[in-house]
Amino acid sequence: MPFKAEYIWVDGTRPTAKLRSKTKIVEDGAELPIWGFDGSSTNQAPGDKSDCVLRPVFSCPDPIRGGNSVLVMCEVELITGAPHPTNTRRACAEAAEKFADQEAIFGIEQEYTFFKDGRPYGFPVGGGFPAPQGGYYCGVGADEVFGRDVVEKHMDLCLQAGLHLSGINAEVMPGQWEFQIGPVAAPQVADELWVARWLLYRIAEDFDVSAMLDPKPVKGDWNGAGAHTNFSTNAMRDNYDAIITACDALGKDGKVAEHIAGYGAGIEHRLTGMHETAPWSEYSYGVSDRGASVRIPWQVERDGKGYIEDRRPNANCDPYVVTRLLINTCCSALANA
Ligand code: ADP
Ligand code: MN
Ligand code: MN
Ligand code: MN
Repeated sequence: MPFKAEYIWVDGTRPTAKLRSKTKIVEDGAELPIWGFDGSSTNQAPGDKSDCVLRPVFSCPDPIRGGNSVLVMCEVELITGAPHPTNTRRACAEAAEKFADQEAIFGIEQEYTFFKDGRPYGFPVGGGFPAPQGGYYCGVGADEVFGRDVVEKHMDLCLQAGLHLSGINAEVMPGQWEFQIGPVAAPQVADELWVARWLLYRIAEDFDVSAMLDPKPVKGDWNGAGAHTNFSTNAMRDNYDAIITACDALGKDGKVAEHIAGYGAGIEHRLTGMHETAPWSEYSYGVSDRGASVRIPWQVERDGKGYIEDRRPNANCDPYVVTRLLINTCCSALANA
């Protein structure tokens, strides 16, 4: 029997890229071939030179279709075989390769918001606002939690696909949730995160809601949505000096702006200094500090080793870019320490 392969890729939409996918029927026993698509429909090519190439780089069982079906994460290439300008994975893989001896791993906390009929799921149907934040985070009960059926289904699908999902929780704003992927090395952690995002969008279709990665879905006194990125190298997992070296490296001249520019569109609307964030323009780090750019978990200080949490990346970030920046900044500092 031939099987269904869902080829998934990141498009060229700006300022925030979108996921695209289409299905290829592959002969039983055959390898996943390279494939192509119309780049003029995805903001990746002009109409007269529209062909772009899909190169499979990560695949897993497709838990929705079942059987032998697979999900296939792809890199986009030009017909010359060079990475397409919108292909951020290649540079991520190269950075990971360059510093492979440091064994960097990542756990990414993906926050997101369900929308239904143009408003966050759980916001009053007639308009206006629900009760202020306070009871929703990790809440239970139909008055506080919205969309749990979708979240449970998504969690099962991620596990069946073999993704390194490490947990889920309800977030601070109604209709807002989080799942975590990791700890896994780059670029695989980012491949898995993109596939988990695809599964989330796809399964939400069946529940007639949509999942959005908007970093500030509701203006005013409502939390934004981030993608806290937890990061460690073998040295950081061994000693506290390496933890501090990594924290200091992220605060160096030029690095703050470079990271903020790569952490997702609209980041200045989320990193205001309120709602458990540090202002985007000022770098800080601290133990247990959810108002700092980078948090050192309390157990890490106690144990004198572990990992750090970069709290700045937006929910709509590209994890290939975020992990590449962290590797280049922190691993080069650690290599010279
Ligand atoms: P928070 O307390 O900020 O909500 P979470 O429990 O949501 O934290 O997420 C923490 C993430 O950090 C998880 O994905 C976990 O796998 C990851 N993690 C744990 N240890 C490490 C480590 N040594 N290096 C990188 N990531 C790690
Ligand atoms: Mn979390
Ligand atoms: Mn969270
Ligand atoms: Mn966190």
